[in-house]
Parts: sequence; C-alpha cells; structure tokens
Amino acid sequence: MTKHALSKSTFIRGQQCQKSLYLHYKRPFLRDKLSAEQLAKFRRGTDVGVLARDLFPGGQDMSPKSPSQYQKKREETAAALSDPDINILYEAVFQYDDVLIMLDVLVRDGQYWKAFEVKSSRSISATYIKDAALQFYVIRGCGVQLSDFSLIYIDENYVLNDTLNLEDLFIQQSVLNEVMAQKEEIRHQIHLSKESLQLTKSPDINIGIHCQYPYPCDFIGHCWKNVPAKGVLSLKTFNKTMLFDLYHNGTTEISQFPDKLALTSSQKSELEAFRNSTLTFNGTSLKTFFQKTPTSKKYHSLKLIVQQPAVPVIKGSRPYEMLPVAVSVLSHDSNESETILFRQDLSGGVKFLDFVSGLNKKTELLITDDVNILLQCIEGVVFYTKEDLSSELQNLHNKLVGVRQIIEECEVFHPDFSDGWSLADVATVLGGKKQLLKENVFLVKDLLEENETEKLEQLFQRIVQYAKAIDLSFHYFQETAKNE
Ligand code: SF4
Repeated sequence: MTKHALSKSTFIRGQQCQKSLYLHYKRPFLRDKLSAEQLAKFRRGTDVGVLARDLFPGGQDMSPKSPSQYQKKREETAAALSDPDINILYEAVFQYDDVLIMLDVLVRDGQYWKAFEVKSSRSISATYIKDAALQFYVIRGCGVQLSDFSLIYIDENYVLNDTLNLEDLFIQQSVLNEVMAQKEEIRHQIHLSKESLQLTKSPDINIGIHCQYPYPCDFIGHCWKNVPAKGVLSLKTFNKTMLFDLYHNGTTEISQFPDKLALTSSQKSELEAFRNSTLTFNGTSLKTFFQKTPTSKKYHSLKLIVQQPAVPVIKGSRPYEMLPVAVSVLSHDSNESETILFRQDLSGGVKFLDFVSGLNKKTELLITDDVNILLQCIEGVVFYTKEDLSSELQNLHNKLVGVRQIIEECEVFHPDFSDGWSLADVATVLGGKKQLLKENVFLVKDLLEENETEKLEQLFQRIVQYAKAIDLSFHYFQETAKNE
C-alpha cells in the first residue's frame, strides 16, 4: 500500500501557500515554534472532537496512535466498513489520490454512510467547507457511498444546565451540496499540490497577505527574515495590498516611503512615529481624554486573567463565556497588591462579583488593560450566577479606564507597538525597560493546575507584574496629558 503524499492539514496548508506546503515536507526544520495561542486552539479542537463522539455512542475508534499506523488503520477501516455489526466509526482512515484523511465520525445509514466532521468554533467558515470537500472527495474516491456530509459546531446560545446536553450544545449542518460542488476544484488543487512536492527547490512565492490569512503561517521566521523590523510592512493604518506592492517594488524601509501619496491624518501620524521612532497621537487629545476621566490619585490597577472554555463548565454559562481565573489589584497610592484565585464554579463567580463590588466601593478610579474584557467577564458572571449587579455595573463603568482604550481613542502610535497594541510593548516603550509579561494562555493553564503554594505565589507575582505595567502605562499618559 503506497504512502500518502498529502493529508487534510497539508492540503489546507497548500491552499494557503504552495511554498508553505513544500517547506513543511522538505524543510520542516525551518518551521517557527507554535505560539501558546495556537497550541491552546489545537488542544481545544481535539477535545471538542472527542466530546462530540458521544453524540454517536458505541462507535469503534480507528485513531492511529502514531503516523506509522496510518496504513494499518486504513486497512482496518476498510474491513470495518464491510462488517455488518459495525455501524459507527471514529477517526476512520481513508486514502485516495495520494491523500490520507481521517473523519471524526462515520455513521451507517442503510446501505450508505453519513459523515460528520466536528469543529470547535461557533460558525462555519469557507476553510471548513473546503476541508469537508476534501474529505468527501477522498471518501467517495474510496468507493464509500455517502448519503450526507455534515459539519458539527458549537451553538453559542447554549446554556449549561445540570448536565451537559450534547444535542443542544452542538449544531449539525449538512454541507453536502457545497462539498459536492467543489469536487473538480479539489481534484485540481490536489494535482497542483502534488506537483509542488515534486519540485527540487521551493516554489518562487513572494511573501504577501497570504502569510497571515486564513492562518498565520509557521514559516514566517524563514520567509520574512530579510524584512526590516520596522519597515513599511509594519505599518498598521495602510492597505496591506498597497504595502506589499510597495515592498515588492523595492520600498522596504520607512525612509523610502513615497512622499507623494495622499494620506489620512492617522497614516501621517503613524508614519511620523516610525520615521522619528517616537510616540505620536492623532485621535482625541490626551488632555480631552483625561478631562472625561475622574482625576484621582487614589486609583487601582487591575489585571484580570480569564479563560474561555469552548464547552461551558459552570452551570448557567454559555460556550466561550469569559470566566475569571485570577485577578491582581495594585493600589497606586500605597503600592500594595492583592491577588485572588477564583474557583471555576458558581462560588468562584459569586466571589468575583463580591470582589468587584468591594473594589468599586473603595476605589475612585479603576485602570485595566482592556475595559471590554473586564466588562464582558462581569456580564458573563452576572448571567450565570443570576446575581443583580446592574446598577453597580453602571457606576463602575464611570470610573473604568483601559490602557487599550487610551491607545485606540487617542490613536497612539509607536514603531515598537507590534500588532498595534500589546500591554508588554506599551509598558516597555513608556517605561523604557523591557517588560516580560507571561502569555495569558500559559498563565491560565498554570493557575488552574498548580497546587503548590510557593509556585502559586510565583504565578501571582507574574499577574502583579501585569498590574504594575498597567499602572505604569496609565501614569505615563496621565502625566503627559497634564503637560499638553
Ligand atoms: S511565510 Fe508566506 S510565503 Fe512563506 S511559506 Fe508561509 S505563506 Fe508562504
């Protein structure tokens, strides 16, 4: 039995960029490390897929334990399909046209089969349909008659009751017509991908918008190694296609940026920030922003760590609800800090609301990194605890300021603000000292799993570092506003 040339993930990789496909197979050592966000997303996808199997209980699991088992499992799948006693298969393995795929769930439907692929998201995207179209093409190519092909994804309006009801949590949507319509296109694309893999050197493909969409490519470190760090491609307020055109025509550095282009005031401001390696402001002036903000030295800086489980874990909550995991509050006045860990249950939610209420009473101004995260989290917790906080929430709203909101409303630019905004970058620029803030995803995982008091204390200190970075950033903007 011949080994496959492509899998579902490598086919999708090739759809984004044939060079990425080539490098994946021929130069895997050039790949970037997976980011914490991507790792978390990957794990989430796997967990939800396994959970959805319970919609079709009693199936036979064909999952290969390692790539060396692919061909064996493919043979076992073929045997299982002709066994009348087997009606449901998980991770059935198929190979056709040199493409190997695994399908989440296959259910016997008389003399036909129904195919189901599970997604951990709340909606269906064009990439998911293409994914399904490839699976449909391969399964049909193996001679298996499919009466339907459905995607299973999460209903964002589902509310967890006493027990998890999978029938209500998941939405099943047939995409049979869409995947059938793509049959010839899939055949053509497989052919193109196989041709790429026959090349003796990587395809000559320039960097472009496709490096980030639909997914951030993991060969950026390799392909972008000669891209200037603070060059034209780092600009955020310009049309990306226009920037890549400039770049490929030799305008790579900011100093080369053409003067003749008609620019918006935001673009002028961003260019000035890059040209002079300085902070610039374009939107609401800091003075005006701070005139709307209660002036007080008695303010607190707050860093909230949240998790957003795809499958709700607390009674009354919904999928992807923001759940408070821990919070650190730093008093600007006394420089004292407090960190609290919340249980991931109803009592944890109630404790969080009590904490917010208490803080609201004692502080005159509350600064956080992103107001929307705090408010969304409060609203989510109010929803599942059914506590009444609406009037207090209104009151809290009036004394809440977000560093992110200052950056956005006052259109603050700096060449070191990667992706336009991140607290670590902002605090590093404003404080003049590198801020090493641990990524939120890792903190959540560690906080939920750590039992040792000493290690937990070390994690708490990391959250306090966030609160300090918020305090530093706010203080900088407040002082700058006074001098405007
Ligand atoms: S970084 Fe861009 S050009 Fe390079 S392989 Fe990835 S998508 Fe293709």
